[in-house]
Amino acid sequence: MAIFEHPSFDKHESVHSFYDEKTGLKAFVAVHSTHLGPSAGGTRFWHYKNANLALRDVLRLSRGMSYKNAMAGLNLGGGKAVVIKPEGNFDREALFTKFGEFINTIGGAYYTAEDVGMTTDDMRTIRTKTKFVAGLDEGDAASGDPSPVTADGVFRCIRLAANKRGIKLKGASVSVQGLGHVGYTVCKFLHKAGAKLIVTDINKQAVKQAVNAFGAKAVMPDDIYAQPADIFSPCALGAVLNPTTASQLKASIIAGAANNQLSTPNIGKELHDKDILYCPDYVVNAGGIINIAGEIEGNYSPDWVESKLQGVEQSLEQIIDHSIKTGRNTDAIADEMARARIGR
Ligand code: NAD
Repeated sequence: MAIFEHPSFDKHESVHSFYDEKTGLKAFVAVHSTHLGPSAGGTRFWHYKNANLALRDVLRLSRGMSYKNAMAGLNLGGGKAVVIKPEGNFDREALFTKFGEFINTIGGAYYTAEDVGMTTDDMRTIRTKTKFVAGLDEGDAASGDPSPVTADGVFRCIRLAANKRGIKLKGASVSVQGLGHVGYTVCKFLHKAGAKLIVTDINKQAVKQAVNAFGAKAVMPDDIYAQPADIFSPCALGAVLNPTTASQLKASIIAGAANNQLSTPNIGKELHDKDILYCPDYVVNAGGIINIAGEIEGNYSPDWVESKLQGVEQSLEQIIDHSIKTGRNTDAIADEMARARIGR
């Protein structure tokens, strides 16, 4: 199939495939749009059953980054890289050194950073071959781990949505799915604000920690949707909102960090019809890329990040108000606003 006929192709400006026999590197980079600036988005390092699934991921994720960066008011377009995790033993440093060389050949139309499966060590390795990388933990404008800023943005969006629905966070119950880098920090913020937490994770140690630190109630992963919570915060995997989980939800607000939460295009409308306020994922979870953007522009400062996080709250408020006024679902409104900002 030619790339232009791929179901996930969305007028991407360029799609690159990279192969290196010696290191076993197989990677795709997709540049969706550079209309607002150089494209930026993390590298995902993951086991894929076949290269087609990796290609589908990079096409969809890079489009998502265009929307996220546009809605966060950044001078960045959308791009993404996917590196297929080799089977068996491999030399990680050699793999990402070669990957850095390849990123450099794109010539700055794409900046990479961490995503699932990547570490700041990998970023340092990539940096030895290209300057088009951010999310470093040392150097002049290093912004470090983006997760705490993502969590800050998620918490602000939860607080805003709760206000809009007349729910006081103090005493409200919030169910949190996933207690990793972002989810655990979201719990910290919520606990401080006086919310009651219901948590789940497949990592039992993380659950134990949240129970001890926040007095959270722990539930099994499949039971999280049906909990009697006011707010549901998905901070683990994508595609968790589908007709089955939607029918179990008791929460009237959904706001979390996970990317691509909606499993089907119709599910946003279904949630809206059930009077559940869905806060669009790419608006809510932009804190990390905001942090990284400061590093790319070389003028990283906490004040600038703070002003952009306030912008995230303003964008979400605009979306919610528009939804109340027009009766349309929030995800459709956000997509429309993002496309207008990208110029599509
Ligand atoms: P992470 O890997 O640190 O945490 C994910 C957590 O989810 C882990 O603790 C994992 O055990 C848990 N988990 C996995 N499957 C689960 C299941 N079925 N049920 C319950 N828990 C499960 O990742 P993270 O950095 O905290 O990111 C969380 C999500 O937010 C991801 O979808 C990521 O793509 C997205 N996101 C992260 C950032 C960031 O700055 N880290 C930015 C934007 C979006």
